[in-house]
Amino acid sequence: MPASSRAKAVLRVAVAAPLSELLDYLKPADGTRVLPGMRVLVPLGRARRVGMVVAADVPTTLPAERIKPVLSVLDREPLLAAGDLRFLLWAAEYYRGNPGEALFGALPLRLRRPRPSLDDRPSGWRVCGEPETAAAELRRAPRQREVLALLAKAPAGLDDATLRARLGDCIAPLRALAGRGLITRCRIAAPAEPPPTPLAIQASAPTLNAHQAAATAAVERCQGFGCFLLDGVTGSGKTEVYLRLIDRALAAGRQVLVLVPEIGLTPQLHERFARRVTAPIAVLHSALSETERERGWRAAATGEARLLLGTRSAVFTPLRNLGLVIVDEEHDMSLKQQEGFRYSARDLAVRRAQQADCPVLLGSATPSLETLHNARGGRYRHLRLPQRAGTAVDPKILVADIRAQPLETGLSHALLTRMDREIDAGNQVLLFLNRRGFSPVLTCHDCGWTSECPRCDARMTLHRGRALLLCHHCGLEHAQPVQCPYCTSPDLRPLGQGTERVEDTLRQRFPGLPLARIDRDSTRKRGELERLLAAAQRGEQRILLGTQMLAKGHHLPGVTLVGILDLDHGLYGSDFRATERMAQLLVQVAGRAGRAERPGTVLLQTRHPQHPMLELLLGEGYGAFATAALAERREAGLPPFSHQAMLRADSPREQAALEFLAQVLETARPLAPPEVEFWGPAPAQMERRAGRIRAQLLLQAPTRALLQGVLARLLPALRALRRPRELRWSIDVDPQENL
Ligand code: ADP
Ligand code: ZN
Ligand code: ZN
Repeated sequence: MPASSRAKAVLRVAVAAPLSELLDYLKPADGTRVLPGMRVLVPLGRARRVGMVVAADVPTTLPAERIKPVLSVLDREPLLAAGDLRFLLWAAEYYRGNPGEALFGALPLRLRRPRPSLDDRPSGWRVCGEPETAAAELRRAPRQREVLALLAKAPAGLDDATLRARLGDCIAPLRALAGRGLITRCRIAAPAEPPPTPLAIQASAPTLNAHQAAATAAVERCQGFGCFLLDGVTGSGKTEVYLRLIDRALAAGRQVLVLVPEIGLTPQLHERFARRVTAPIAVLHSALSETERERGWRAAATGEARLLLGTRSAVFTPLRNLGLVIVDEEHDMSLKQQEGFRYSARDLAVRRAQQADCPVLLGSATPSLETLHNARGGRYRHLRLPQRAGTAVDPKILVADIRAQPLETGLSHALLTRMDREIDAGNQVLLFLNRRGFSPVLTCHDCGWTSECPRCDARMTLHRGRALLLCHHCGLEHAQPVQCPYCTSPDLRPLGQGTERVEDTLRQRFPGLPLARIDRDSTRKRGELERLLAAAQRGEQRILLGTQMLAKGHHLPGVTLVGILDLDHGLYGSDFRATERMAQLLVQVAGRAGRAERPGTVLLQTRHPQHPMLELLLGEGYGAFATAALAERREAGLPPFSHQAMLRADSPREQAALEFLAQVLETARPLAPPEVEFWGPAPAQMERRAGRIRAQLLLQAPTRALLQGVLARLLPALRALRRPRELRWSIDVDPQENL
C-alpha cells in the first residue's frame, strides 16, 4: 500500500485523559491555523476530548486511514509557548505522570474544558434601559439600589472584580437587577496597562547588612543558570535579599517567579511585595476563585504581570523571559504535591531556572537535608545570613523535662509559671501544639471502648465545640455519643489533648484574657486566618495557641515566650524524615519569639531531654543537627544518598493491593540492574484508610539516572498488567512521606 507508507505531517497531541502516550491527529480539514500550545478538540474512541498540540508537522508513518482529523481548534493564539511545553513534558516524564494530565493541570480549570479563554467571555455588568425609572420599584431593596447607582455611573459597565471590591459580595442584588431587566451581563475589556513606573528601589528599603549584601552580590554576578541556597535564621533578612534581587531582574526587563508554601502566602507577604515592587504582580494560590486564578494566570502568561507570587502549582504557569526564580521556605512540605500528579515544586523550580538559564534562590532557616547536601557537595552555592537583621536577638531555648511531672491539660508547671510572668509584664505568649480538636480519642471508662474510625486504622478525634467525632484521615463524622456505643455507660472520657481542649483550660486559668486559637478548624472561614494574624500582630490577643499554621513565616513582634507542648512523636517517628521535620518545626516555631526589641524565650516540653539529636539541635544549632542527620542517612543509604520512588496501591479487598504489587515486583526485577533495591510490597503504615486496604512497594537506586531508567521500563509493563477493577495505584517519584 504505497499511499499509507508515505510519511505524512500530523499534529502530536497530549489529550486530557489518563493516557501515557501522545496521540497523532490530522490538521483540521478547513485549513484553520494550528500551532503548538493551542488547544484542540479531538475524537477519542467514541468520545470527544480536549487536547494540547505539542508539535505540529510531525512526520508519521501510520496509515492515513488510521489517523483522524481534529474536530476543531479552540484557541486563536497558543496558550503555552515552546519553552512551557518543553518544561511541562519534562515534568510529566520525570514524575511519570500522563502528559495530557500534566499539561492540562497547568491550566486554569475552565481552559481544561473546551471553552474559549477568558478574553472572549462576559466578565462584568452594565445597565440597560432607564435606571431612573426604577427608583420606585427598588424602594424596598437598598442593596439593589446601591448596585444600580454604581453601575449607572459607568455606562461601559464594571467588571466582577471591581464590583466586588467596591460593594463586597453582591451576586444576589446583581441577579435580582438582571431579573428585573435593569442590568445585563457584558464583556469588559481588560483595563489598559498602567503607565510604567520606574523600578527603582523605594526609600523604605533598609541598607543591607554585610551578609545580605554579599548574598545579593553573589546571585547578581551569576550569568545564566545557578542554584543558590540562602540559609538564614528567621528574621535574618532573607526577604530583603529577595526584594533586592527581584528589583534587579525587573529592571533588566525580566519576569520573576516566587514560590512560597501554602500557609506562607499571607496578605502580609503580598502587601510587603506590593509596597516594594513597583511592577504589576500576579498572585496564585488555592484560596482564589477560579476567575481570579485565571486572571492571574493570564497576566503572568502574557507578561503583563512582571512578578508571579504563588504556591506550588504556580511553578507551571507560563512565563516569558523568566530571569529569576525564588523558592521561600524551600524545606516546606506543602511545596510537594502528594496527590494525583505528584511533584516537588522546589525541584521543578530548579529545573525551570535551568531551562530558562537564570539563577534560582532557595531560602530557608531550616534547609531540607537534600538541599544542604547539594550545597555541601558544591552543586548549589551556600549563602548564609547568620544573624538577625536589625536589632532583634536570637531567642533562648529552654528544655522542660516533663517526665513524672503533673500536667494541666498538657501544660507543665514550668510553662505556666513563665506564662504568668510574661502576661503580667504585658507581653504575648505563643503556644504550639500540632494537634487540632479537643482530644485525639474518646474512651469508655467502664468497658474500654475507644472511638475507632470504622473505615481507617485510626481513632476519631473529638471536636467538642461541634459535638462531633471526626476522622482526620477520611473525614468521616459522627455525632458525639452521649453513652458508650458498646456498654451504654454514660462515663465517656476524652484522652489526651488537642488545641480546643488547651484553649478551654487556658480560658479558665486566665479568665477574660484575650486569646486566639489558630488551627484549621478556627480558620475555616475565608479571610479568618488573616484577620486573626493581623490582630495578633497588633498585640490584641495576649495568648496565641495554634498548630503549624502558626509556625510559618508570620512576624509576631510582641511574642516573648513560645511554649512547645509536644514534639516527642518526631523523635521516634516511623518515617525516616521524622527527626528532620521535628527539627525544622522546632526552629521555625522558636523563630516566632523575640523578633522585635524584646528578647524571646522558647520553652520546649519533652519526655526525652537526653535524645542525642535533640541535644545537638538545641546545643549547637540546626547546622550541626543537619550534619549528624546526614551522616545517619549516608550510613543507612537513605536519600539524599539514594533516590526513591514509591508505588502505592489500594483496594477495598483484603490482599488485592499486596498481590498487585507482588506482581509489579516480579515484573520489575528483571528490568532493574542489581544496584536497584526493592522494599516490600508491605502494608502501608496505616493499612486501612477510608475503607481501602493499602500497600506499598519502594524502589531505591544509588543514582537518579538508574531510578529513572527502571521507571521508564517498568511503567509501560505495569500499565499492561491485569488488575482488579477496584484497585487503584499511583507512583510517587522522590516521595517525601514513606507512608
Ligand atoms: P526573613 O525573611 O529572613 O525572616 P526579613 O527580610 O523579613 O527576614 O527581615 C526581618 C525584619 O528585619 C524585617 O522587619 C525587615 O524589614 C528587617 N530588616 C531586614 N533587613 C534589614 C536591614 N538590612 N536593616 C534593618 N532592618 C532589616
Ligand atoms: Zn463502654
Ligand atoms: Zn477514617
